Amino acid sequence: MEEKQCPKCQFTLAKLQDIRRLGCAYCFKVFADELAPAIASIQKQEQHIGRKPQISIKVQTDKLNSQLQKAIAQEAYEEAAKIKQKLSVLIESS
Ligand SMILES: [Zn+2]
Repeated sequence: MEEKQCPKCQFTLAKLQDIRRLGCAYCFKVFADELAPAIASIQKQEQHIGRKPQISIKVQTDKLNSQLQKAIAQEAYEEAAKIKQKLSVLIESS
């Protein structure tokens, strides 16, 4: 059986060490079937990384919560109300 080869860059699957180091964009088409499981797993990882915004919402709410505690401690109730408002917006959007 002849080995598949990319007609553009002569890349073969035998050369493949890391899917992100494919010879060229055309390789994705040539080796689509062989690469499908690996691509799916990379996309999963990227989705995982894509969850960062939720972490930053957590960081923001933590920060606002500590500001809120300070505002209450200082009896700055108007400030506290503003912070509570921000918190509820953040929580709703998360
Ligand atoms: Zn190629």
